[in-house]
Amino acid sequence: MKIAFIGLGNMGHPMAKNIIKAGYEVYVYDRKPGLAEELVKLGATESLSLGQTVDNADVVCTSLPGPAEVEEIVTGSGGLLQHMKSGSVFIDFSTNSPILIRELAILCEEKSIAMLDAPVSGGVNGAKSRKLGILVGGPREVFDTYKPLLDAVGEGVIYAGGIGNGTVCKLVHNCMSASFNTVLGEGFALGVKAGVDPETLWRAVCQSSLGRGNGIHVGFPGSVLTGEFTQRPGLPWFFALNLMSKDVTLAMDMARSLDVPMSIGAIAEQELNEGVARGWGSENCFKVVVLQEERVGVTIRAQDFEL
Ligand code: NAD
Repeated sequence: MKIAFIGLGNMGHPMAKNIIKAGYEVYVYDRKPGLAEELVKLGATESLSLGQTVDNADVVCTSLPGPAEVEEIVTGSGGLLQHMKSGSVFIDFSTNSPILIRELAILCEEKSIAMLDAPVSGGVNGAKSRKLGILVGGPREVFDTYKPLLDAVGEGVIYAGGIGNGTVCKLVHNCMSASFNTVLGEGFALGVKAGVDPETLWRAVCQSSLGRGNGIHVGFPGSVLTGEFTQRPGLPWFFALNLMSKDVTLAMDMARSLDVPMSIGAIAEQELNEGVARGWGSENCFKVVVLQEERVGVTIRAQDFEL
């Protein structure tokens, strides 16, 4: 099976290397010269043009900076649509736009080329050690056929549904991750201003519910995904909404007394106040998620979900 890999940057280089190590016949290309040397020593072939790299490839993989570069490579003059053969597969590992991905998938389909979006998570170290999470969207049968190739790139391959869904997962994750970083900054600034040294605060957080991952690994899925907000024996994690509301109000009172702006804390306080006003005080604090479900018109439930 001939694999073409385009984009040998911080991520693409180690990903291509792992595909070579898995025994595939790999052709590599980057517009920046000099990046392929080590890969060629390991057995890859470097072509001087995109067209040469892609001609006759069974699978074309890209790891490019973003939507502009991917669109250009696919639709531009001398690009993938002009060179890829009918029956081949295009796998985009870049973090891209789901709107563009779905548009490109239609153009690919017109040429009988299948497409998977497969953004990765885990950084350069994850790429080097093959520990990447790979979030894949596209036709199930294409995913199943090329799963061994995806496994060569990262051990955490997840099928996310139709084309673009891998990217939806990736963007939701990165948005939550960045928001959480903002939450950490906000909270730590409050704690330090209130007189605790940062290292002690760090250790305190690590020993507490958040640092132990109770919310993300147990509380949210055990409550929101199952729709079980009422306390019952055996529920894996429960903290009453009215107690959480009281604690957040105490924290916000402390912030107000110290003139510390808390934009995200203020949103949490407001959501919890509304939860209490709705009469949900004795239910699990994750019940506030229902407020957002109502605004958006969705329910976040997984059928027959078990932790
Ligand atoms: P990078 O800038 O290091 O690599 C991109 C490569 O694409 C470069 O070598 C560049 O020369 C090449 N390139 C750009 N346009 C090209 C073209 N027209 N033809 C051929 N080559 C071209 O970026 P990266 O850090 O490797 O990231 C790649 C993708 O992976 C991005 O979408 C990024 O968001 C995503 N990602 C990165 C990380 C990370 O930690 N770096 C983690 C997860 C996901």
